[in-house]
Amino acid sequence: MQYDIIIIGGGMVGGSLACALQETTLRIALVDAAPLNTRHDSRLIALNYGSYCLLDNLGIWQALSSHAAPIQQVHISDRGHFGKIRLKAEEAGVHALGYVVPAQDINMALNNALAKQNRVTMFRPAKLKQLTQTETHANLIVETETANLELEGKIIIGADGTHSTVRELLNIETQTTQCEQSAIVTITELQRSHQGIAYERFHSSGAIAMLPLVGDRTATIWTDDNQAIQDLLQLDDSSFLKTLQTQFGYRLGRLKQIGQRHTYPLHMLKSAQTIKQHVVLMGNAAHTLLPLAAQGLNLALSEIAMLVQCITDNPDEPNWQTYLSWQEKQQSNSTRLSHQLPKLFSEDFSLVTIARQIGMIGLDICPAAKKHFAWQAMGKAGQLPRLLLEKVK
Ligand SMILES: Cc1cc2nc3c(=O)[nH]c(=O)nc-3n(C[C@H](O)[C@H](O)[C@H](O)COP(=O)(O)OP(=O)(O)OC[C@H]3O[C@@H](n4cnc5c(N)ncnc54)[C@H](O)[C@@H]3O)c2cc1C
Repeated sequence: MQYDIIIIGGGMVGGSLACALQETTLRIALVDAAPLNTRHDSRLIALNYGSYCLLDNLGIWQALSSHAAPIQQVHISDRGHFGKIRLKAEEAGVHALGYVVPAQDINMALNNALAKQNRVTMFRPAKLKQLTQTETHANLIVETETANLELEGKIIIGADGTHSTVRELLNIETQTTQCEQSAIVTITELQRSHQGIAYERFHSSGAIAMLPLVGDRTATIWTDDNQAIQDLLQLDDSSFLKTLQTQFGYRLGRLKQIGQRHTYPLHMLKSAQTIKQHVVLMGNAAHTLLPLAAQGLNLALSEIAMLVQCITDNPDEPNWQTYLSWQEKQQSNSTRLSHQLPKLFSEDFSLVTIARQIGMIGLDICPAAKKHFAWQAMGKAGQLPRLLLEKVK
């Protein structure tokens, strides 16, 4: 079976790319090892403004809007010190800095959109087993429940996650950093409204993010060293709630109740190459970031916008150089936000602490610097591909 584009991996990245390509006349296939809609995903995702624009342009936002809580303000602070950064939607000239949406709803909306169209052929459950490249295309062997299928594609997208088979089959090296950290993700019920404020409070070994969810609830993402996370998991719900209240403080009033706790080991990975002949690595397969600055999916969605533009502008010979330079720039911005910010907060030498607080206060009172920081975090800095621009309504 021959296709113009074969996407390996139908998670949030592969699924979004398939939705973005379905308006073209290209022959597209999507292969995923997991059956449709069977896996529960407890992650709670902060989408930046650029990601909101992309999903709106793809017609996915309609299905997500009732599950999405707007972020009106971001408040970043450092536990035990006085500096803080506040970003407000009105100061950045937008109606929301971003939205917080359960990953389960994003997956569902993408899968429902793909089920309604006939441009993308779906193979799931189906696992990539072999990949060989020729001058003009790539040959794949994909294992389904009943047979091994041979697929041929002009472009292959590896969106198959941190432990990517595509990357492994092509012997692409990775740079991995062992951070020995994990995250607890849960939902906290509040006694009062969060007023659309997203809090991120750093401490010496991690951070607690309390992000607005629909209703008087927050997405709680607590990252720390593995042992500290294990200790937190041993606590019963009421002791965990008390510890959370003590560590986070009372900015959101008294915390009422927490939901089920889920843990995620944290990885940092960067692929040495993201394009090899006909194959493009995307999402976690290309770069897995720490979730502290909520950048991983946002970065991947911005890459999708540029990739789709390069392919649709010139389907026979996409301008890979344009794509690569965009990717490099976006990746370095996102990596800076997700890896260096936490690192800065983990240094507890007094000079660094003082400098950090001066930096935070400086950023907080300087409108131009703050706007620049906000636009970077929102994914709106620089010249944007079409899918990241606001939809004309
Ligand atoms: C706790 C936590 C919170 C996060 N919060 C945020 C946030 O707020 N904002 C943000 O932007 N990002 C966030 N992220 C990051 C974000 O979740 C990831 O960047 C994103 O989910 C990556 O998606 P992906 O599709 O690349 O990978 P995955 O979700 O891992 O999907 C890979 C897919 O490939 C399939 N697959 C694997 N191997 C094969 C194979 N051999 N053959 C066929 N299919 C295969 C799998 O079945 C799967 O469906 C967070 C991450 C964590 C852990």
